[in-house]
Amino acid sequence: MPETHAFQAEVRQLLDIVIHSLYTDREIFLRELVSNASDALEKLRHIQLTEKDITSPDLPLEITVSADSEAGTVTITDSGLGMTGEELVQNLGTIAHSGSKAFLTKLKEQGSNSENLIGQFGVGFYAAFMVAAEVKVFSRSWKPGSTSAIWSCDGSGSYTVEDSAEELPRGCRIVLKLKDEQKEYADKDRLEEIIRKYSSFVNFPVLLEGEKVNKVEPVWLRQKSTLKDEDYVEFYKFHANTSEEPLTWLHFSADSPVNLNSVLFVPGSNPEAFGFTRAEPAVALHCRRVLIDAAPQNLFPEWLRFLKGVVDSADIPLNISRETMQDSALIAKLRKVLVRKLLRHLDDEATSHPEKFAKFHKEFRVYLKEGVATDYEFQKDLAKLLRWDSTLSEPGKPTGLADYVSRMKEGQNEIYFLSAPTRAAVEASAYLEPLRAKGYEVLVADEPADEYVFNNFREFEGKKIVSADQASVEIDPPAETKGLSPEEAEKLCNWLKETLGERVSLVGVSKKLAESPVAAYSPDAHMTPALRRMLRNMPRGEGESALPAETPVNLEINPRHDLLVRLNKLRTADEGLAALAANNLCDAALAAAGLLDDTRAMAKRSFELLNRLG
Ligand code: ADP
Repeated sequence: MPETHAFQAEVRQLLDIVIHSLYTDREIFLRELVSNASDALEKLRHIQLTEKDITSPDLPLEITVSADSEAGTVTITDSGLGMTGEELVQNLGTIAHSGSKAFLTKLKEQGSNSENLIGQFGVGFYAAFMVAAEVKVFSRSWKPGSTSAIWSCDGSGSYTVEDSAEELPRGCRIVLKLKDEQKEYADKDRLEEIIRKYSSFVNFPVLLEGEKVNKVEPVWLRQKSTLKDEDYVEFYKFHANTSEEPLTWLHFSADSPVNLNSVLFVPGSNPEAFGFTRAEPAVALHCRRVLIDAAPQNLFPEWLRFLKGVVDSADIPLNISRETMQDSALIAKLRKVLVRKLLRHLDDEATSHPEKFAKFHKEFRVYLKEGVATDYEFQKDLAKLLRWDSTLSEPGKPTGLADYVSRMKEGQNEIYFLSAPTRAAVEASAYLEPLRAKGYEVLVADEPADEYVFNNFREFEGKKIVSADQASVEIDPPAETKGLSPEEAEKLCNWLKETLGERVSLVGVSKKLAESPVAAYSPDAHMTPALRRMLRNMPRGEGESALPAETPVNLEINPRHDLLVRLNKLRTADEGLAALAANNLCDAALAAAGLLDDTRAMAKRSFELLNRLG
């Protein structure tokens, strides 16, 4: 005779919510039941270590899922430790489960708004009632001599337990009679999809109509020494659902400060390369093989959004909510450990696999640059991975900051870079003259992202990183005296200052120029040409001019240059023409520095000058 039992009040409350208020994420019922089955098998395995006498000792340890679309049922069977009739009452009639408890607590906090909570908390066994009108559990315990029992419930406030007439095999068989509206789950393909999504890496075979669904090994849980490259590549293709091979990967496990097993992949190419899509976080978070969240938002910093892989931590409660995950100290710990390790791995790749690293750098350097500009926590380690062309690098062999520092000349105590569209433009720049004279290397900052990098990263290994136009390096005074005398030069400077008026804040004799006639410098050390360009490209408010008023520059002249000697002469012969020439000279200096805003005005002045030819 079936014996009727009333559910504990908390279970009743939980069931009521599961049945009446939860409409989303219903598919997780299968994850919960498969996880329970896997736990039951795991427990049996432990029992086998110590107990000799076990019911049906030769049963294979596996989980079977099957569907009967005619009857509208889904059945989940395991050969785990099973339950006696008393245990059925104890385990399925009361709440022992921390996840369910957390669910109820959260629910009390939020009032009756329970929608979505189910996705955030596992409610364990009771999740079955999200899809089932009736649940039967057929079970026999591992304990020798135990009888077979049946637990049955239609979702009301009570359940029944009775002895089974038929002798059952060890373990549990859970039969869900689906609600009419949930019949989609009595479909093999649908079940397979759900098992793949959440339970692909469960420790025991999951069989669906005789076929094993979880065929891919959870590589992150295996010993590195037992794995070949192919194993990782195969896993990656499965996980990322791609045919492309990964560029590199990190397989990493730790016990402290947090338990974790992980495998992280850098994809073969930059997913944002064409600018149409933004990569979404795709490193899945697992707890002992079971998927918690396929795309946790906060596990990795934004600049690592291209990363794929799995992080599995036994320390994560299966019932962690997405909200608590955002600011969880545990997630922060995982992030710190993993990002550090990954950056070190990439740095190692630079030495051990230079070609692979070069490809990585080519594809993913924009993300690294974004990181340097936005994430101070990892800035230094990130900067180590960056490479630029330099005035000393061979074409196609960019250099990093560490190598740069190792090549620094005696007396050099700063690292130099110059923003310009190309390496040729950098090499042609007047700013390079004093640096070249001393043999100092200059990095070619030829990408827009470099401007963000160098605006936020100003020191490496104790060396200041300085834009070449801000370098205080001077050339050695030349031995021969040539060009204008100091007095003439000073007078010319005064005249230029007067003639150029608002366009200049200072005109002086340069101690930096060797070949160029003139160079323009930003009077504000922080307002580099690069920064000015950036500001100019920012969105403008209404009524704001597209062109900021030309900022006055400091102009430095090279008194040894013929051009200045001639200008000085012209000044007395034809002052009008000399003034026009001076403005053209200023235009050219601004253009060379990337500071010329109003190119139309410049063209006009240039035509005017050309008109005076002959
Ligand atoms: P949890 O699994 O988190 O403890 P559940 O509500 O899912 O919570 O299950 C309650 C209890 O029922 C479990 O702790 C376990 O003792 C028992 N149980 C559930 N499913 C099985 C199963 N397939 N085999 C044996 N025992 C089970």
